Amino acid sequence: MFNIETGRQADEENGKRIDYMKKEYEKKQSKYIKKLIDKIESCTMYEPCRSMACAQCQTARRLKYLVMWRQYFQDNKNYKLVTLIFYRDIISTKDLRTWTPDLLKERLRKILSRIGFNRPITGGFDMDYHRYTHAPKESHWMPHFHLLIPNEPKKLEKLRAYMLKDNNLYVRKGRINRPMRIDDIDNILPVLSYCVKGFWQEIPWFVNEEGKLKKVNRKRRIKNKSVFVKSLLALDRLSESQLNFNMNVQKI
Ligand SMILES: [Zn+2]
Repeated sequence: MFNIETGRQADEENGKRIDYMKKEYEKKQSKYIKKLIDKIESCTMYEPCRSMACAQCQTARRLKYLVMWRQYFQDNKNYKLVTLIFYRDIISTKDLRTWTPDLLKERLRKILSRIGFNRPITGGFDMDYHRYTHAPKESHWMPHFHLLIPNEPKKLEKLRAYMLKDNNLYVRKGRINRPMRIDDIDNILPVLSYCVKGFWQEIPWFVNEEGKLKKVNRKRRIKNKSVFVKSLLALDRLSESQLNFNMNVQKI
C-alpha cells in the first residue's frame, strides 16, 4: 500500500494506459481521448506533460511532495494519518466529467479551522470506484482525503463527531459507515507518498450467499476499460494543486 514506484514502473503504467485509451478511441473516436493519448505519449523528462493522468508526472508530483515535507515531519513527529470519507458526496461516472474537488476541499478547510487546528495539515484528495457487481448501475465514486493531522486528541474527536453527523452518512443496507480512520505513522516517507498517490482504483462489492452486501478488501485497477479511461480523463482535468491539500503551511 505504501510503494513509491520507479521511473520504469511509471513508464510501464503509461504504456498500459495508452493501450486502454487506444482501444477506447477505436470504439468512440472521442477527441478528448485522442488528445490525452498524444499528451502522455509526448511526455519526457525534459518536457513533462504535467497531466495528472500521466504516471510519470504523478511520480514527479510525489517526489516533489516528499522533498517539500520530509524535513518538517522529521522535526515534528506527533502526527497521525487520518482518512476522511465523504459518503454524502458520492459521484456517478457520468458526473465525473465535470466534477472537481474544489468545493469539498473548501468545506474541509472550514471544518478543520473551525475545530481550531492551527498547525500545518497536509495530504491529498483521492477517489475509489465502488463497483457493485450485483447492481452495476449503482456503482459510484467515493471521494476521500488522506491527511497528516497533528495528534491533538480533543480536536480529532471533534472532527470525528463532525464526520459522524447524519448529514455525512450514506445509508447502505447492513453496512456500518466509518467516515474517519486514524492510523499511526511509523515511517513518514511511504505515508507521504500514500497521501498523494493520484491513482484511482476500484473496490468491488457483491451480495454473498446469505444476501449480505460485502466488499473485496484489496483495491485494484478499475476493471471496466471505459470507466478506467473516464477516470484518466477526469484526472487530466485536475491540477496538482487541486489534488493536494495543504493548510497552515505558512508555519513550516
Ligand atoms: Zn507526463
